Amino acid sequence: MSGFEVECTPMRLELKQRWTIAHGSSDYRDNVLVRIRQDGHVGYGEAGLSPRYAETATTVTEAVAELTTLLQGRDLSQFYTVGETIQTGIEDNNAAKAALDIAVMDLFCKQVGLPYHKLLGVNGSEAPVTSLSIGMDSPDIIYQKVKEAGGFPVLKIKLGSGNDGEIIQAVRAGTDKPLFIDANEGWKTREEALAKVRWLQTCGEIALIEQPMPADMIAETAWVRERSEIPLIADESVKTASDIPRIAQAFDGINVKLMKAGGLQEALRMIVLARTLQLRVMLGCMVESSVGISAAACISPFVDYADLDGNLLLKNDPFGGVKLKDARPVLTDCPGIGIIKPTTGINI
Ligand code: MG
Repeated sequence: MSGFEVECTPMRLELKQRWTIAHGSSDYRDNVLVRIRQDGHVGYGEAGLSPRYAETATTVTEAVAELTTLLQGRDLSQFYTVGETIQTGIEDNNAAKAALDIAVMDLFCKQVGLPYHKLLGVNGSEAPVTSLSIGMDSPDIIYQKVKEAGGFPVLKIKLGSGNDGEIIQAVRAGTDKPLFIDANEGWKTREEALAKVRWLQTCGEIALIEQPMPADMIAETAWVRERSEIPLIADESVKTASDIPRIAQAFDGINVKLMKAGGLQEALRMIVLARTLQLRVMLGCMVESSVGISAAACISPFVDYADLDGNLLLKNDPFGGVKLKDARPVLTDCPGIGIIKPTTGINI
């Protein structure tokens, strides 16, 4: 066993269009690329940062440095216990943990010459269709985006900002496809949330509603759930596996994201626990490059719903990686998490 080196590099990811949801707007995201080098192999990971959570490129770099110190002298191929150290070595900093955990798994799989999804034993052709998210915008632009989303059989629509009626009217003028609705905590009382749910029940096929109410309004969400015909999925209410039992009675399912969970290994624990509690599982993402999205795609055959479009929103994705065919991620035989290093473009 030889030593390893860990390096953090900020990456400014520019969005094709301004991205607006109930939490705010952005034109770019400052994510962090993590590389672990050992014996001529490089494992890649990414911290995808959301304004909803407190992490920045600086906190990620500091957290990764702290965790790297804790891992010195360890055999990284013992990825299970290495992953435990990553999860428990410091508090919070889940995107930083995710970046390191993804890089550890990518490195190990490259060292043994195996695609990560094969290590998991999944059928790569069973990846679910991914939705395409439509951010908040004027009704004209939403209508245009819906029309341009021809290849995606499911669209995810962001609500919760006060003009929900206009948005759904614009969407339904353009398509009768099934929709995932994401309120991003935007409905503030149980009565408001229930009124929205009842109205959405009359708006064509709605497959699910994500996070109707603020993250800590669990009892209120349970009250809405008892009265809803549409499944409610927890996103902001659940980050890691330890959050699941507390919210299991209030939701029909959970949205697992690598960046909330702290990486692939915790995401897998969340999927197992959710299944045990008979919850449905969605796999989502932040705005991420092909590094984070390719890693998530590897575990997507385990879930019911996928929303892995973060890289599709980017102007300058520095990596190649998982591609979609008929809106499903195609898992290749490329060792590791399935990314291709850039030869041109961003200098990383
Ligand atoms: Mg969400």
